[in-house]
Amino acid sequence: MNKVYEKAPAKINLSLDVLRKRDDGYHEVEMIMTMVDLADRLEMSELPRDQIVLSSQAGFIPLDEKNLAFQAARLLKERCGVKQGVYIHLDKHIPVAAGLAGGSSDAAAALRGLNRLWQLGLTTAQLEELGAELGSDIPFCIRGGTAIARGRGEQLETIDNPPQCWVVLAKPPINVSTAEVYGKLRANELKEHPSIAGMADAIKRQSFADICARLGNVLESVTLDRYPEVRQIKEVMMKLGADGVLMSGSGPTVFGLVSKESKISRLYNGLRGFCKEVYAVRLLT
Ligand code: ATP
Repeated sequence: MNKVYEKAPAKINLSLDVLRKRDDGYHEVEMIMTMVDLADRLEMSELPRDQIVLSSQAGFIPLDEKNLAFQAARLLKERCGVKQGVYIHLDKHIPVAAGLAGGSSDAAAALRGLNRLWQLGLTTAQLEELGAELGSDIPFCIRGGTAIARGRGEQLETIDNPPQCWVVLAKPPINVSTAEVYGKLRANELKEHPSIAGMADAIKRQSFADICARLGNVLESVTLDRYPEVRQIKEVMMKLGADGVLMSGSGPTVFGLVSKESKISRLYNGLRGFCKEVYAVRLLT
């Protein structure tokens, strides 16, 4: 039986700005995203019957049409007239509803993997276009690397990867709804905006110090007020010596960038006193 495997890495936002709320209900964003080496793994194998079947060891995600990997498979089947079915096993490692785009990355991996399994010959640009129909972060998850994302997040400009460093991720035991955070954001009244151009320039110069100094996310204004534990984790990370600290996406995961490996154990152990889910990973460069 034919089988393919795909890795679905988590993303972090080094910079996230919301410019305005659009008439179509979406927010116009400008952000810089990159991948970290914390990933789900998808195993996809052909099914003789015309069905999409999902399984996972994670007990807390939907395994029906609500799952983004299911939706990706269904979309590809419909658009390309695929008659075979597929069995997808989702080995989840990315925390759910965490601001790390776990579901989006699973959908991206499903699109990439099924394009190979079913020998559809779609280009990356075509896969990105399909992905955009399912979710704003999916095109970036298909392309990977580091990119400036504009529009509702689907218009991508690939840029250099930041210099390699450690990324410590800490997720408090709360799930945050992205829709709720965007719903509460007063996009037109924001007083401060992170400089996307400044961050892109710091990355271009490969200046780790400037990247850390320029980390910014306007969604913190909503999530930090509503969930004080997220603010507390940011403070703890700074105290424990992270070089730069920011909430990823709509949260609640906070990441710390660290250049020296010698700092990791103190950070990791210190954070474990506050939350169970702590990871120390590298950038995916
Ligand atoms: P983003 O950063 O894109 O907003 P997130 O990391 O905050 O995403 P996800 O982990 O993608 O959030 O999960 C959000 C919701 O999507 C979950 O509550 C879950 O019910 C649903 N979901 C659908 N498909 C998946 C999937 N493959 N993995 C995890 N959650 C999924």
